[in-house]
Amino acid sequence: MNLPFAESWKIKMVEPIKRSTRQEREQWLKEAHYNVFQLRAEQVFIDLLTDSGTGAMSDRQWSELMLGDESYAGATSFFKFKNAVKNILGFDYVIPTHQGRAAENVLFSYLVKEGNVIPGNAHFDTTKGHIESRHATAIDVTVDEAKDTQLEVPFKGNVSVEKLERVLRENQGNVPFMVLTVTNNTVGGQPVSMQNIKETCELCHKYGVPVVMDSARFAENAYFIKTREAGYASKSIKEIALEMFSHVDAATMSAKKDAIVNMGGFIATNNADWYEGCKLFCIPFEGYVTYGGLNGRDVNAMAQGLDENTEFDMLETRIHQVQYLASLLDEYKIPYQRPAGGHAIFVDAKQVLTAVPKEEFPAQTLTCELYLEAGIRGCEIGYMLADRDPVTRENRFDGLDLLRLAIPRRVYTDNHMRVIAAALKNVYDRRNEITRGVAIEWEAPLMRHFTVKLRRLQ
Ligand SMILES: *Cc1c(COP(=O)(O)O)cnc(C)c1O
Repeated sequence: MNLPFAESWKIKMVEPIKRSTRQEREQWLKEAHYNVFQLRAEQVFIDLLTDSGTGAMSDRQWSELMLGDESYAGATSFFKFKNAVKNILGFDYVIPTHQGRAAENVLFSYLVKEGNVIPGNAHFDTTKGHIESRHATAIDVTVDEAKDTQLEVPFKGNVSVEKLERVLRENQGNVPFMVLTVTNNTVGGQPVSMQNIKETCELCHKYGVPVVMDSARFAENAYFIKTREAGYASKSIKEIALEMFSHVDAATMSAKKDAIVNMGGFIATNNADWYEGCKLFCIPFEGYVTYGGLNGRDVNAMAQGLDENTEFDMLETRIHQVQYLASLLDEYKIPYQRPAGGHAIFVDAKQVLTAVPKEEFPAQTLTCELYLEAGIRGCEIGYMLADRDPVTRENRFDGLDLLRLAIPRRVYTDNHMRVIAAALKNVYDRRNEITRGVAIEWEAPLMRHFTVKLRRLQ
């Protein structure tokens, strides 16, 4: 008999979580204005809001905390981290920051000027926010396949080289860099192939445009290259990661994802001018360049996390769990972005709540329904997150409208996956009774989804 799959780690410490009644959840969600970001964490049974900073650190990472050097400048922690970045990403210069968006803020403060155009394969929300707040334009150049959630292609996060070339040709001299996001979070944690990374970078460089890799989930992307792309099966994750980064000019990183720390990020590059430019913005905003807003111990844990999460077994355990949840949804015929992404399942809300009009935010409505059903907190990645067009101030309804179930790393078991799938099935079974969604009562001008106040339509 073949032995079944099992996790490549065992559990050393646990945190109790609480169930609640539907009546309690009705009350709590109302108080939260139908925005799950406004719930208290203790009102949640299974928290799939994000996989960012929610992972369980390993015993080795916790040990590294004890070894943290809290010297203001030149701490041993920094050099340990710099070494890890050199070995795993191949970059000589690195600036730690408190998280990914801080890395964007520092780098973009140096590079982005008003009126610039910055193409990318579906910029992440904070990335887009940092571009638009500087009165520049982010243009999505993801392949069209990404919009068809039922299409099974191995690298749905890819850049459309045709779309990219059009943007580069029409905006010559006005494109400070291109953002290549791996995996492509916004379209469903979909990977980008090595071939596409190479072609994208060659094209950009032909036009004299540097490429910044938004690398939050670079290790998961490397796993997909190894398991899906011809020629990479026998390469290690670390070899693949090095090759990915060898094509780009710089990386911004949210270490809260693939470095499995609760807080941290960085900018890495081989470009000495960019490094000098970034320093000018890091020091006043994040802190001195060898700690960048982090404790020495956090920098240590980040170095250790980078090393262990670029090992195949760790990534296989993680992706296997995401794919297990996907297999349950297949069994219940619930439509999600196919194939399953690296860090999450993205349920296609438009195809579930077909009776809810787009103006009433189907994915936001589905997020509320899943919480009410079982205390599971997912996250809307759809029309609410898309914000308004900065010029017309109209809602942007041209993208996908998804409910994201992000799976924290090394936190939940496959039993939790079964609860999630069953709860979703219960909502799915009564989908035709759900005909109305939500209406906005108050919203912030930028990144509204965190604080938006909603009203339930009856
Ligand atoms: C999370 C994320 C960011 C921002 O990082 P934070 O650590 O949340 O600030 C940027 N880009 C991508 C692709 C991300 O997933």
